[in-house]
Order: sequence, then structure tokens, then C-alpha cells
Amino acid sequence: MSRNRVALRASELYAPTLKEDPAEAEVPSHRLLLRAGMIRKVAAGIYTFLPLAWRSIRKIEQIVREEMDSIGSQELMLPIVQPAELWHESGRWDLYGPELARLKDRAGRDFCLGPTHEEIITTLVRNEVRSYRDLPLSLYQINMKFRDEMRPRYGLLRGREFIMKDAYSFHATQESLQEHYEDQARAYGRICDRLGLEYRPVEADSGQIGGKVTTEFMALADNGEAELVYCDCGWAANVEAAETVIRRVPTTTQPRDIEKVHTPRLHTIAELAEAFGVAEHDTVKTMAAKTPDGRLVYLCVPGDRELNPLKADRAVPGLELLDEDDFKRFDIPKGSLGPVKPPAGALVVADVSLKGEVAWAVGANENDYHYFGAMPGRDFQIEQWGDIVLAALGDGCPECGGDLKGARGIEVSQVFQLGTRYSESMGATFTAEDGTEQPFIMGCYGVGITRSLAAVIEQHNDENGILWPMSVAPIQVAVVPLSVGDDVVYPIADRIWNALADAGIETIIDDRDDRAGVKFADADLIGYPLQVVVGKKGVANGIVEVKSRMTGVRLEVPIEQAAVHVAQMVEAELLALR
Ligand code: ATP
Ligand code: MG
Repeated sequence: MSRNRVALRASELYAPTLKEDPAEAEVPSHRLLLRAGMIRKVAAGIYTFLPLAWRSIRKIEQIVREEMDSIGSQELMLPIVQPAELWHESGRWDLYGPELARLKDRAGRDFCLGPTHEEIITTLVRNEVRSYRDLPLSLYQINMKFRDEMRPRYGLLRGREFIMKDAYSFHATQESLQEHYEDQARAYGRICDRLGLEYRPVEADSGQIGGKVTTEFMALADNGEAELVYCDCGWAANVEAAETVIRRVPTTTQPRDIEKVHTPRLHTIAELAEAFGVAEHDTVKTMAAKTPDGRLVYLCVPGDRELNPLKADRAVPGLELLDEDDFKRFDIPKGSLGPVKPPAGALVVADVSLKGEVAWAVGANENDYHYFGAMPGRDFQIEQWGDIVLAALGDGCPECGGDLKGARGIEVSQVFQLGTRYSESMGATFTAEDGTEQPFIMGCYGVGITRSLAAVIEQHNDENGILWPMSVAPIQVAVVPLSVGDDVVYPIADRIWNALADAGIETIIDDRDDRAGVKFADADLIGYPLQVVVGKKGVANGIVEVKSRMTGVRLEVPIEQAAVHVAQMVEAELLALR
């Protein structure tokens, strides 16, 4: 294997470091990428990657490439600019919303910038792959994506332009898809391991892409935008998608009379619970929504719980919560809704956890009135029961019944079973073994490359800078001579630097005529994993100092063994991440 010889000089490196924390950066990865001179903002969510960031990005890409190649996925390159017709065929031109950046060419034809590439790849394959004999087929690319995100933020964590690896697979049978899906998921686990990420695979919601079975890979981080729930048995889910097992003991288990109560001063669930002498979880909140064809929907959830809009949407597809105008139009009292005598035609849905509740405390559909002791079946009907609340800490695990715990994470990658969502809408079929024409069964698999870079930094940093895992570090070793003008110190540093480069180690020498403090600060900020410090005193004793940025451990190494020793340390750290 021939390796590039990487021997850089700090005096020539284009990495404009900043002394002060940039005001716009709210999270460590954003702050450190800016301060270490790795990225610069061009517009909201759009960045230039400077040489150090680009070196790390290429390493992440290479790891992803190796893992994709190892499961038989083939790399290709798809266009970023995509014709609208394909998106009309899949139905997503209208469904995708404002995240899809649309443009016209000079002839006035509609195009978009690819936020994802199902349409393009399905078109490619439908014209070329005709027989079950050509399946399965798995293709991937590493390319720029554009999504006009509502809130681009946190630097590379949520950009508008970002790099993604996206793979797509085509199968004749569900079993074949399942097999490749599992290969992809295993590859994703290995990618996280090799990037040095602490992660958790979680059950997820399939959202915009469609399809059913899906797993997200979450890098655990306090600043992560995703909320997870997990159990010690290994089950974990994105809270958006988490099934809920609410363990509750209703206070009112005996039938009782219904009572209409004037409650002008009761505004919160806590006040209501107190007035009625029950626990908050024994009151019922009712929210109003509408179906796409305009039917009013009442959603009843325990007073102490939040509605999960994604799960509610699964229970009643296309559901939308009412806005102020809707409340006026339906003429219903926002603060006093309830399932007893709802407006004619309303669909009343209740969370399954309310099934054990015998007598409900609910709004009376009249301002400042509540019913206490309302009994389902006697005083009102529930047309549909569904799991529609957000999971919370302390709920039961759907797998084993254990206690759910919470964590936050950054979604670095996701695998989906798409099924025939795209092949059917876009007419992509093959001839099956029995001679019939069938739609391809598809999967898709995405890794956020630039988001992964930021996630690595979120997990590995301290007050002085970045603590790169060796596999992703932009440069593996810095040689830091403390006096550039010294005719003993500098030549020794120069010799070690060259010997490391000859051994295939990526190395930089800090040849700047700066104070030691400045050099140490930059080396720690950029976070070179191993730093070889060459100083007058050490040299007089025949040694240099080798510092590990990650552990802070310092070793004294004889000058003549320094290069070999450091090269071995680099290889050992790389090996540990395989
Ligand atoms: P999110 O829920 O965070 O918006 P997503 O689920 O819409 O992401 P996918 O369509 O699953 O994203 O894309 C695959 C991968 O691309 C994600 O797992 C993530 O790592 C990355 N990615 C998605 N959106 C962004 C973004 N705005 N900036 C950077 N990376 C992104
Ligand atoms: Mg996703």
C-alpha cells in the first residue's frame, strides 16, 4: 500500500485559529470547529471546510466506504440537481414542503436540489434492471445534500448543505431486504465504533421517507437534539417513536355519579386535580385537531402527559392540531374540551392508558365548566383507542417491563426498509422467478458525514480543544520544537518529523517562531492526538517528551527512539479503533 507522505509545516498550514470563543456558537463542536480554523460560515447552515476539516471528513468518508464495500454495496455518483417530474411521480414534489429547495432552469423547467436520492436511483434502476437474476443490488454515493432546514444550527450538526453517504438497495423478496438491512445496520455499528463514537441504535419513526422498519444510530451527547428512552434490557427508541407502557394506578376505580362543576378559577391541570381531590394523572386533557378532510378530532390524554403528534398522526393519518382560526370556525371552547357531548360529527380518540380509568375528570365543552365522574360507555363514547402520548422516564419498557431511562443523542445515521413505496409509485418493476412483473422491494441507508464529524467533537473535547480519536484526527502527530532558532533543538525536531513522515505517519512540525505557550495552545486546540515536544533541557538529557492529547499522559522517550516509538503508538491507537 502506498501512502501519501504527509509532512506539514505549521507556518504554512491554512488553519486560522481564533483566541476567543465565537459568539454565535452554542455547542462545543461548532465552537471548536470555528476556533481551530476548520470551518467558516458562508450563510446560515452553509460552510466552507478548511484543510483540517476536509482531512477529517475524507477519513470519515474512507471508513464509510470501506464498510459499504465490505457488504457488497457499490459506489456511484448521482446528480445533485434533480428534475421535478421524478418528484411528481413519487408524489413528493407536493409532500416534501419548504425543506426542498426548488429552482428553474433557463427554459423555465422545475428542478430541485437533492435532499435525498430515492427518485433518482429508482429511475436509474427501473430502466436498467429487468430480472430477479440481477437482484439484490446495493448502490451508494457520498455526496452533498441540500435541505432548506427551518432552523439550521449548531454548526455542522444541522446544516442546510451537508455531506451524506446514502445507499439504496433493491430486492426480489422481503427476506433478501431483511438480510441486507441487517448487514447495513451492522456496518453502521462498525462505522460508529471506528469513529470512536459512543452510540445506541434506537427504534425510530420513518417520517418523510416512508416505509416501516427503521433504526437510527444515536451518538450519545447532552447537546443532541434527539431524546431517547432506553431500558437496561437493550431496548431503546427515539422518544418520537417510542411505544408507551404507562404504569398507573387510577385513584377512582368505583362507578360514581357524574357531576358538572363550575370551575372559573381552575386553569391548570394541577389546580383541577387539587379541586377534584385526585392525582394529576387522573384528570384528562383533551386537545382538538382536524383530519385532512376537515373532520374535528378530540384527542384525550392523561392530564400529566404530553400528546405525541407523530403517534397521533399514525392513529389518524394527516391529523393537524387546530390553530386559533380553527377554534373560532368550529366554535369550541379551547380551555374546556372533553369527550362528553362533543360537537356533532367529532371523532373522539383516547390514549389506551385511560382504559383503566373508571370515572374521568374532563372539560365540559363549555367555558369554565368541568365534569367529574364522567364514565366511558355511560356518559360518553370513545370511538378509537390509540397509543398517542409521549413516552416518559419511569414508563415501562415495551420489551421487558423494566424502567425506562432517558438520554439525548445526535442522529448520525439511519437505516430504513422502504418496501415498495418508491418502486410502486414510480413504476419500477422486474420480472420475478415465476414470470410475473413485481415492484422492487427497497431499502435506504444514510450516514451524515459532516454531522458525524461534529458528533465526534461533541463527545471528545475539553476546555482546551479537541480530543480526536486517532482514526479521525486531521493529522496524527505534531512535533513541537520549543526554540526554532536553536541549532540543536530544531534539527532534532526536524529529523523526528521527517522520520515519522517516512514511516507513513501524518505529521506537522510547529516551525513558527512563537512562544511555547502559543504553540501548546494551538496544538491542544486543533487536538493533534500525539505531540512530540522537543526542548533544550530534554535534548541536553537525550530525551523528548511525548504527550497524548486524549489521556494527558506524558512520556519521556530517548531522541533516537522517538520516531519509531511514536509511530507504534499511532498504529496501536488505530488498531484499537478497528
Ligand atoms: P433529522 O431528523 O436530524 O432532521 P433526518 O432523519 O431528516 O435528520 P435522514 O433523512 O435520515 O435525516 O438523513 C440521513 C442522515 O443525514 C441523518 O442520519 C443525519 O446524520 C444526516 N443529516 C440529515 N439532516 C442533516 C442536516 N440538516 N445537517 C447535517 N446532517 C444531516
Ligand atoms: Mg433520519
